[in-house]
Amino acid sequence: MKDPVCGMEVEEKGVSLKYNNKEYRFCCATCRWAFEQNPDQFVK
Ligand SMILES: [Zn+2]
Repeated sequence: MKDPVCGMEVEEKGVSLKYNNKEYRFCCATCRWAFEQNPDQFVK
């Protein structure tokens, strides 16, 4: 899976967030936070 914020490949574990019934994974809490601020910017 890819971190939608920074584009890094991420493991199936770790920081995740559900948005529009989809689960997104992040490399770190900072990317998760950025996604939360403006999800539509990262979801295509
Ligand atoms: Zn990241």
